[in-house]
Amino acid sequence: MNPAPRPTPGSDDNARPRRIVVATGNPHKLDEIRAVLAAAGVEVTLESMREHGVEAPPEDGETFAANALIKARACAAATGLDAVADDSGLEVDALDGAPGVHSARYAGVHGDDAANNAKLVASLADVPPAERTARFVCAAALVTADGAEHVEVGRMPGRIIDTPRGAHGFGYDPHFVADAADGRTNAELSGAEKDAISHRGAAFAALARRLTCDVG
Ligand code: IMP
Repeated sequence: MNPAPRPTPGSDDNARPRRIVVATGNPHKLDEIRAVLAAAGVEVTLESMREHGVEAPPEDGETFAANALIKARACAAATGLDAVADDSGLEVDALDGAPGVHSARYAGVHGDDAANNAKLVASLADVPPAERTARFVCAAALVTADGAEHVEVGRMPGRIIDTPRGAHGFGYDPHFVADAADGRTNAELSGAEKDAISHRGAAFAALARRLTCDVG
């Protein structure tokens, strides 16, 4: 693929919204990031890594920030455009922070939400409700075409419950009650209600502030 040329001062390109590649093949994530950036007043054209034919690199970092940077760097290097990426997961205090960066494949198979949730509940069988504190964490990374790097981290604190409730969301949402919610699980919140308090919303809102001030 051909790297896109950077706009030069005074060229027509400067009149167009800035193009940013998002290191995800997931259209829902792209829409979510677009909504957060639009709400923050950031005018950009978001393009997915899939549109650019970029393969997802192995996510072998030990932290959410490291993995987000791995993905954003790969996209920026392959396209010559600014790139953003995120990495997220669940940290449970009674499990010493697990499943952490292994959240998507906690039970062994990537993206098997039912198996991951069953393992989570089984792992907490002896843990009383008061000690089931946890948080979702999201690191959002921006790597610009000229090599500047920024990472913002958002968190959503809450607790884990045994019996799942709700049909919205994904992943561990039916077992997670956020402190900022009214006792409903994440899966019982509407998309907008969850976005307003979510780890991803917080991380990208912070990154949006970065995009509007000093980067570019
Ligand atoms: P990724 O950042 O898309 O790789 O997400 C990693 C994994 O963390 C997902 O597969 C889910 O298991 C979990 N996860 C991350 N964010 C959420 C969330 O908002 N709700 C439920 N599970 C989540």
